Amino acid sequence: MAIRVLPEHMINVIAAGEVIERPASVVKELLENAIDAGASQISVMLENAGKTKIVVNDNGCGISPQDLALAIERHATSKLPGDDLSDVATLGFRGEALPSIGAIAKLTITSRMAGAEAAWQIEVHGGKKSAVHPASLNPGTMVEVGDIFFATPARLKFLKSDATELAHIIDIVNRLALIAPKIGFSVQHRERSLLRYAKIQDNLLGTDLYQPRVLQVIGQEFISNSLTVEAQREELKLWGFIGLPTYHRSNSQEQYFFVNNRPVRDRQLQAAIRVAYQDVLPHDRYPATILYLEMPSDQLDVNVHPAKTEVRFRQADRVRSLIISSLRSRLMQNDVKTANTIGQQAIDYFKPNAAVQNPGLVFAEKAPAQQFSWNASRASFSTQDNTFYPPQDNSPASAPGSSTLSPVEPEYFLGRAVAQIHRTYIVAQTEEKVVIVDQHAAHERLIYEKMKNGLQAEGVKRQALLIPEVVNLPQGRAAIFIEKAAELSKLGLTIEPFGVDAVLVREIPALLGREDITQTILDLAEQIFENGESWIIQNHLNEICGTLACHSSIRAGRTLSLNEMDALLRQMEQTPNSSQCNHGRPTYIELKREDMEKLFGRR
Ligand code: ADP
Ligand code: MG
Repeated sequence: MAIRVLPEHMINVIAAGEVIERPASVVKELLENAIDAGASQISVMLENAGKTKIVVNDNGCGISPQDLALAIERHATSKLPGDDLSDVATLGFRGEALPSIGAIAKLTITSRMAGAEAAWQIEVHGGKKSAVHPASLNPGTMVEVGDIFFATPARLKFLKSDATELAHIIDIVNRLALIAPKIGFSVQHRERSLLRYAKIQDNLLGTDLYQPRVLQVIGQEFISNSLTVEAQREELKLWGFIGLPTYHRSNSQEQYFFVNNRPVRDRQLQAAIRVAYQDVLPHDRYPATILYLEMPSDQLDVNVHPAKTEVRFRQADRVRSLIISSLRSRLMQNDVKTANTIGQQAIDYFKPNAAVQNPGLVFAEKAPAQQFSWNASRASFSTQDNTFYPPQDNSPASAPGSSTLSPVEPEYFLGRAVAQIHRTYIVAQTEEKVVIVDQHAAHERLIYEKMKNGLQAEGVKRQALLIPEVVNLPQGRAAIFIEKAAELSKLGLTIEPFGVDAVLVREIPALLGREDITQTILDLAEQIFENGESWIIQNHLNEICGTLACHSSIRAGRTLSLNEMDALLRQMEQTPNSSQCNHGRPTYIELKREDMEKLFGRR
């Protein structure tokens, strides 16, 4: 058959296949246009979860009647003034959305430019265009999209339930609301208001400007359980909000990334988050994060896919390492601020009756490191090996009478031990609060940190294999893997090329058993192939440390003396990350004096 150029309408239908997957994609494109138009208020109205009607109304710059006819033409855009794809400052730039929507749905655009007398309107129904004609509207633009996919019924069949499609729409609105705090957003479904975000005062800057929007979108629970981060490395800037390790989720849904103020989804960024939290979260849990990256636009390729949610970084490694290092150091710094949620959960159990509203209990709020004062003469907790040595006094603290209230020494952040209860928890007090420590979780963390430091200080102990191991790799992996040989060798893994699709393993990290080696190499090769990096081995080592730590730490059920307990508390104050065990559970909680007074109705 002869080759022919497809008619314009067909081209638009094909383009729509990529850009418009579901009603939420229409909402996304229309919101992006409204944001690009400089609107300060955008409303979305839906019928049948957007399947039969989507109306987006903005108070932005509007479209002139001449441009109205152009706006629905393919690749017609006002947004690439310099014809330069390496310098895109707007959310849109491909000039594809409106003609695509017009090809598969019933599209009506009404617009009035700021300062103009009248509004104008154009319709495109399944690709058929009307003339531009007068209409009435306040300044701004209103885009109505009816019967999405009526012209491509095959797609219509793929739409999910109303609830699912609505959830996708809300997710899109949330993502865009998080980049535009100065714009107010509202969404209505069949006259019912689904969300309403008032615009944030524009005299605020940076995280102060974004925090109230994060509060609207994600909620107070996240705000109370998160830290702000800010970091800069040369022209690369990172800032945002990161959840405390104790506030974790079962999937990555609450991880938001914005690059140069554009919402993106990126597996490499997700992987970086995983590494940053790897020491403080259980493996199957995900932190909540809202991160903004800024870089010169020539460092970024935004034209990867028509839906514009993917980007390519010119220096992906630098982006990755900035994320990992700044998140890690922030988590470390603010380690003692244990998640609030746990506090609230605990207090709900304590509460004498549910009527006590918000007792204002905050657990282990941030304590600057300098509050810790290490009194060397009391340092009786031996860390020579991983066993827990009691100092001179051996009297079990849980014996009646032994929990005398010794004068409290306020210089200790975690206070002085007063008792052990259920042979599992240490109760300590300061002038201002009661602290309850999970002895096993706390000790496990101490040992884990010590082992990790050992790894860092002394390097990885390696073990030569008597008979080198040959590991066969999937096609194409071996060559890339061998390129990383020098790097891997620093981690205790010595490899050599072996034929085309295999490697020879000569030395392995001593912590790794020989039986683990094949799987580790395969995982590593896969990871290097995908990300160009080899952190999995570090991860493996840390995991092994974790397992060892868990086995060698004091168990719940062991009786401790007051001196032993004090020694453990002092050691915790000295150890980074000691507010969670390495499974992400908290190691201690605290109850403030005023909270207790409230609980007992003294306040
Ligand atoms: P793109 O956004 O990539 O330029 P679109 O097809 O989404 O492509 O829009 C085409 C053009 O129509 C835009 O470049 C813009 O000039 C104009 N336009 C679309 N929506 C609006 C709006 N809400 N307000 C002002 N102008 C708009
Ligand atoms: Mg657009």
